[in-house]
Amino acid sequence: MARYKDSVCKLCRREKEKLFLKGQKCFTEKCPIETKNYPPGEHGNSRRTKISEYGIQLREKQKIKRIYGLLETQFKNYFFKANKQKGITGENLVKLLERRLDNVVYRLGFASSRKQARQLIRHRHLTVNDVIVDIPSYIVTPGEVMQVRDKSKKLDLIHNSLKRIKDNTYSWLTVDKAALSGTFVEVPERADVPLNANEQLVVELYSK
Ligand code: SF4
Repeated sequence: MARYKDSVCKLCRREKEKLFLKGQKCFTEKCPIETKNYPPGEHGNSRRTKISEYGIQLREKQKIKRIYGLLETQFKNYFFKANKQKGITGENLVKLLERRLDNVVYRLGFASSRKQARQLIRHRHLTVNDVIVDIPSYIVTPGEVMQVRDKSKKLDLIHNSLKRIKDNTYSWLTVDKAALSGTFVEVPERADVPLNANEQLVVELYSK
């Protein structure tokens, strides 16, 4: 499968804000956004061109896609699915993205980035309802329980990451830090999802 291989910090600099793609580093002063909050490249700091309506929509789509670590085709497929569902397409899109297993594992605090969560899942460190699931795009259903496997319970990266998470950070998840398990209680409302983005612009972009 194709993957983005360049520095992920460049993606944040392109969007001129923290997308939290690199785990612990994102919470330290080593984060490049702290010192270089302008697009990468020779003229990144000097560009002053007026951005078009299409450009604004495109940037918003790129931002959301990058936050969830998806490639264009994957992201577009989520949009098509969201568009077929009842309700507001943009909200449906965010809810679908939030239900991805890599995102849930990240929000539960077992990984410090979605990328790290994908690694944990691919390396078979987790079960969902007692069954090993190694597919990061697995869509989690309310009531399902994510559990770190016994053989993986000593992994430092899980314990270091859990320190970042306060108890009950998200209303739609419950975490048992001692047992290294967590439940996806319900699909969150859009207003509850901490995503600093305007998904309606994505709807407008793809509806052209
Ligand atoms: Fe983005 Fe994190 Fe890199 Fe900062 S450290 S630029 S938030 S990926």
